[in-house]
Amino acid sequence: MNTTKIGWIGLGNMGIPMAEQLITADYTVTVYNRSKDKETALKEMGALIAETPKELIATTDVVIIMVSDDAAIEQIFNGQEGLFSAEISGKIMINMSTVSPAISKEMDTLCKEKGAQYLDAPVSGSVKQAETGQLVIMVGGDETAYEQVKPILEKLGKMAVRLGDTGAGNLAKLAINSLLALYTQGLAETVVFANQQGIKTEDLLNLLNNGAIANIFTKIKGDAIIADNYKPAFALKHIVKDLTLAKAIGLDSPLAKTALNTFEAATAKYGEEDLIAVIKQVKG
Ligand code: NAP
Repeated sequence: MNTTKIGWIGLGNMGIPMAEQLITADYTVTVYNRSKDKETALKEMGALIAETPKELIATTDVVIIMVSDDAAIEQIFNGQEGLFSAEISGKIMINMSTVSPAISKEMDTLCKEKGAQYLDAPVSGSVKQAETGQLVIMVGGDETAYEQVKPILEKLGKMAVRLGDTGAGNLAKLAINSLLALYTQGLAETVVFANQQGIKTEDLLNLLNNGAIANIFTKIKGDAIIADNYKPAFALKHIVKDLTLAKAIGLDSPLAKTALNTFEAATAKYGEEDLIAVIKQVKG
């Protein structure tokens, strides 16, 4: 049994399989989620349940947070019964959500004032990589704190890299997700164009996935297009969040602007579906 006691906050598409990895790795894991139906499977695996972030942090050494956005982080730290309503001296918080560098800096300052450490550690990879501990983790924050929690991160990812001070992980993640948005729109437009010219989706994707520009993304999302399956691994609304955050810190390229317009236009209808549902928007 690993002796570090872990608190896990956020049981969404990513949080559940990531927390499961740590339980499987023999950590004692206490979980908290805002809505109360998602904890059952983890409880069956041996997780302890906390009713609030405040209760969770009281019995844990390291708290990992995997929630949607800046507003959720604000709530988890500063809300009623939030982390900051507890005694947190000596604890380490690892925020693995994709959020702004600004909120990381704000929470880092407040953690330091209370004698705790904060790392931003967002991830590249989706549900499949989370289920197999194959995520890529990019970290910003104190080097000593990073070294302390590295064994935990190594259970979640195939690689973890510390890039610099607080917010550095968030910046790298927003850069990567701007390319993700371009890939996604590009794949959708390519399939729609081929279809319009009489090429079947299956034939086009078979060629694409055996050619020079094949990658794991075109394979997974190509399969989703063929199956007409838009169950979210990464919800479309989250890429709108990420492009908006990137824009706020200066991403102003023609392609990024176009992608933000496209995904924003798709959100109302397809925001809860996987991001490749943008193909339905592109088809019109
Ligand atoms: P998700 O399935 O939408 O889950 C979001 C989680 O955040 C849920 O546990 C939700 O609680 C919680 N939450 C949202 N607003 C909250 C609030 N105000 N207070 C407390 N909790 C709140 O998201 P996900 O796909 O797991 O992604 C989590 C983060 O990782 C996001 O920042 C996303 O951009 C990033 N990410 C996702 C992927 C992916 O492929 N899915 C890959 C890399 C990074 P409820 O259950 O109560 O709604």
